[in-house]
Amino acid sequence: MTGTLIVGGTVVDVDGSRDADVRVDAFGRICEVAPNLTPAAGETVADATGRLVIPGGVDAHTHLHLPVGTVRVSDDFDTGTRAAAMGGTTTIIAYVTAYRGEDPLHAALTWKGWAEPSVIDWGLHMTFTEPVSEATIARCIEAGMTSFKLYMAYPDLLQVDDRTIAEIMMATARHGGLVTLHCENGGAIEALRAQALAAGRRDVPEHSATRPAVLEGEATHRATAIAESVGAAVYIVHMSSAPALAEVRRAQERGVRVLAETCPQYLHLDVSALARPDGANFVCTPPLRDPWHREELWHGMSRGWIHTVATDHCPFWAADRAAGFAGDEAAADFTAIPGGLPGIETRMGLIWDGVAAGRITVEDWVRLCSEAPARTFGLWGTKGALRPGFDADVVVWDPQRTQSLDADALHMAVDHSPYAGRTCTGWAERVWSRGRLVADRGRFVGEPGWGRYLERGPALLEPVG
Ligand code: MN
Repeated sequence: MTGTLIVGGTVVDVDGSRDADVRVDAFGRICEVAPNLTPAAGETVADATGRLVIPGGVDAHTHLHLPVGTVRVSDDFDTGTRAAAMGGTTTIIAYVTAYRGEDPLHAALTWKGWAEPSVIDWGLHMTFTEPVSEATIARCIEAGMTSFKLYMAYPDLLQVDDRTIAEIMMATARHGGLVTLHCENGGAIEALRAQALAAGRRDVPEHSATRPAVLEGEATHRATAIAESVGAAVYIVHMSSAPALAEVRRAQERGVRVLAETCPQYLHLDVSALARPDGANFVCTPPLRDPWHREELWHGMSRGWIHTVATDHCPFWAADRAAGFAGDEAAADFTAIPGGLPGIETRMGLIWDGVAAGRITVEDWVRLCSEAPARTFGLWGTKGALRPGFDADVVVWDPQRTQSLDADALHMAVDHSPYAGRTCTGWAERVWSRGRLVADRGRFVGEPGWGRYLERGPALLEPVG
């Protein structure tokens, strides 16, 4: 591999926005960022005039290959990471789940096998669904899985109690890791779901009605209070609502180290989608909310109260979604629909939309989508900025490039799009993963297996210098 010189663009990262060229060495690392660099012999020159040059996106919340009940997430690590690359994301972190009775390290090996075909670099978070020993936490961290997911919902399969949350937070903090939490009050939600079914309310919109925002706010408060009491940091995944954001703000104001993630679906869609004929395709958890929550979330991003944007990418074929309604129609109900939306390819474009609309700045966009997830999940020093020594995960972003968001215009393995009929103006033009071109003006040019497993370090919670 020869080196590459990306010339004429506007570089945007933690060091600000400036006109500069970016030199990538033959080992796939950034070696120089400065104006008016002269091409060296044998160097490939890429023109970025009139475009932005940014660190590749880091999507810290993805589900690929995941078995769910009798079906499976439709994207595997090959198709899912291709789609990510086409949209300007060069690093993903996927969630491993260690189910009750399962050895977490063994579960991680299974996921590592699935992830082999990845076309971009990848890391793993570990999900615990029961109390674990401190030794298990230490072994995960030694294996490069420095962040853990716990659920406050889904009591049948995933939820852990408050004591377990507190104990895992304590042990994780001692070993330099970070706990991420799914914040919804699982017990109250189960009661609401049972009540709806008993009353004969079975339609798709009940998915949202039985998971109200107030129960996301309650769990978010509990998460921040537990973190505060044990002296740990906490990361709130897929925050969807204003009550949850208010709890995050309250905790931040009293000095709790709480970091919040939101997702494009909560910024661009609303609960009315669930009432459509294809409403089952919009079932995700937390559910889509009333439209006013979106305004609060965009505002929270612009003010720095929300730290990252990830996707919670979790697509299913429409037929697999409908499986819950197949057969005995009279017995079918909203609780049988596998939940999760496609989004790994469209995140950078949908958040850029907020830049174009004046809701956030271009620097906010890079921070939310690349820099902050890299710092938070132990990838700083290699991912999330265009500094010498960092991996050459680089995107030339064309603010004028248009991209249809119809399913057949995208690369995710899924037959429907939550954003069908919409077009993004502003899209990835060329994308490099460690110096290797992987996406070139709408064509995928990477290769399965190029992506490497990322052994992640401790969370970096302080501002970077
Ligand atoms: Mn998720």
